[in-house]
Amino acid sequence: MRACFAYPPMRIINPATGEVLREVAEADRVAVTAACRRARAAQPAWAATSLGTRCEVIRRWRALAVERAEPLARTLALEVGKPIAQARRELAGVLPRVDFFLAEIEGALAPEVVLTSPGDHLDEMIRREPLGVVANISAWNYPWYVGANVFLPALLTGNTVVYKPSEFATLTGLAIGELLHEAGVRADVFQVVAGGGSAGAMLLEEPVDAVCFTGSHATGVKVAAAMAPRLVRVQLELGGKDPVYVCDDVDVATTAAAVADGAFYNTGQSCCAVERVYVHERLWSRFADAFVATVRDYVVGDPLDERTYIGPLARREAALDHHEAQVADALGRGARVLTGGRRLERPGFFFAPTVLVDVDHTMAVMREETFGPLIGLARVGSDDEAVALMNDTAYGLTAAVYTADRARAERLLARVNAGTAYWNCCDRVSPRLPWTGRGASGLGVTLSREGIAAFLRPKAWHLRGV
Ligand code: NAD
Repeated sequence: MRACFAYPPMRIINPATGEVLREVAEADRVAVTAACRRARAAQPAWAATSLGTRCEVIRRWRALAVERAEPLARTLALEVGKPIAQARRELAGVLPRVDFFLAEIEGALAPEVVLTSPGDHLDEMIRREPLGVVANISAWNYPWYVGANVFLPALLTGNTVVYKPSEFATLTGLAIGELLHEAGVRADVFQVVAGGGSAGAMLLEEPVDAVCFTGSHATGVKVAAAMAPRLVRVQLELGGKDPVYVCDDVDVATTAAAVADGAFYNTGQSCCAVERVYVHERLWSRFADAFVATVRDYVVGDPLDERTYIGPLARREAALDHHEAQVADALGRGARVLTGGRRLERPGFFFAPTVLVDVDHTMAVMREETFGPLIGLARVGSDDEAVALMNDTAYGLTAAVYTADRARAERLLARVNAGTAYWNCCDRVSPRLPWTGRGASGLGVTLSREGIAAFLRPKAWHLRGV
């Protein structure tokens, strides 16, 4: 990979121990500008490369990701603190996304004749062209997933990409780039600029044609504001406060285990993690007991240990402070802790898996994204009350209903303002379905056919023969 100009090195910290894993050169303005210029210069040739060749290099990248899965999973576990079994699962989960994009790309690029009128010798046709240079500013929590959702369709549609991984997933970001180059993507077609928020902000000042951002609502608003005068395409995949409603007709044990997994998988650090649980009063106490029993059984520990289910918080001290503040705020307003409630006294940045009850919407824990192993359970008396509470949020990423009755679930979910609706499942993403947030959860679409079209712009052809 081409070395980026850089100053002073970033320290990559293992959040499970606090130890420095490596130092990496951070891209400065010269490096960011140079990367964008190279991406601009390389784009026409990449767009002119046959689709077969573009697909072939992505296929090779897939094969390399399979071949190197174990060391790549280990890197992810070390720098993000993701439990190793979950890191392996993330790498494996990228493959169906690659396969989906490869299967769909030819159709997405095919010219579309919308009118053939031999009488007046007129054809009307749509061709879809790449946007140009795509800046991809990414998050750390699922760096393979959220990165691949952007750079794979961007590259396949003929764009060049300047990719800024999160500073908390830098080694994974660099590895993604190395694999693409080894697979045959030319160095200037996909470039990694390592760095933190300042590198991201510098990238936004460059004359790119699109910005695809994954991260928090607070940063997303800054990205939108920075790009507004430029009128280029902006996609924002932001946070959530995703609710689950547990109806009164479910099997308590299996539902409690499934919802707890939706809340605590990836140590609760998923954009679509369950962040609020509303439970019908008819099974409230049985559900709360089963839920807490499940959470108490989670193994907290070294991410490299196969048994670990809960790892450290990747954002380290800032995340621990955020969790403590949400717990203190909730307790001050009348909530109770059923389990956990504090940081763990051990090296690294661990927060005990925590369940709160007697929570309401005056509390930050029920309004603001937590992004960690902390969840509030609230009791509701009716379906209408549940829907009102589910919709009482600035966010709109996903929402789930657990019930034995599909028609009841569909009626409820049709009333919920979210980009994704789940019946008897949660915290799930499919390559075939659009991934999109409403309100404070963002703008635009990744995945699905729409998530490929997001990297193309239509040109309208009016063709009149003589
Ligand atoms: P973050 O907002 O702190 O950082 C995201 C990226 O933005 C990083 O690469 C960071 O370096 C960069 N950045 C920071 N300041 C910037 C600035 N001023 N200009 C440009 N770039 C800047 O978020 P995070 O902690 O990396 O990720 C967690 C958040 O991402 C959560 O809110 C989570 O819900 C969200 N997320 C959403 C999705 C989704 O699909 N909707 C997926 C994953 C994560």
